Amino acid sequence: MPRISYCPRCATQLVVRHDGGRDRQACPDRDCGFVFFGDFSIGCAGVVLREDGGVTRALLIQRGQPPYAGSWQLPGGYAEHDELLTTAVEREVREEAAVEARFRDVVGFRHMIVGPSTNIYVVCRLDYVSGEPASDGDETAAAGFYSFDEMESMEGVQGISRWGIRHALESHPGSGLSVDDNGSDNRWQMFGLTDVDPRHWRG
Ligand SMILES: [Zn+2]
Repeated sequence: MPRISYCPRCATQLVVRHDGGRDRQACPDRDCGFVFFGDFSIGCAGVVLREDGGVTRALLIQRGQPPYAGSWQLPGGYAEHDELLTTAVEREVREEAAVEARFRDVVGFRHMIVGPSTNIYVVCRLDYVSGEPASDGDETAAAGFYSFDEMESMEGVQGISRWGIRHALESHPGSGLSVDDNGSDNRWQMFGLTDVDPRHWRG
């Protein structure tokens, strides 16, 4: 568990309090009520597929900065604390690869506990809208659409990116976790499964 010394809300020195079955750092100011649960972050990545001449290719970017400079991966990044996941992934695809794409569904996610932090990395499927891939000349060194065969000859394609692309290729668009517009607004999104063709299971 990472340790911090002072309350990030009111700057009072934190104390240890038993809360929810374990000791946690907490603010002694009861009006403040801050409890430190640890560091959490949400990452997102976009699988954008495009078909050309009967070959389906996925959008990849080459990292321009450490860590892992030179390796290839899905465009993506962190969702800001005041940004919905679908907005974040569309923004990252635009910023890193100059491609416009619209969120379709979630094909999978990774939950990772590493060091002082815990992270959820959500792999989303996006529908290609427009734009030719281009690097931003900073975070990304290159960007392009590549088939699975072409990835075989590329150095350093990230494993979780291949995992996401494979899951997107092997499932119907929309068969993953989709946003339920009835239960969502601009600060709140519900993600649920929707069978793209109920005849598959209703017989
Ligand atoms: Zn406080």
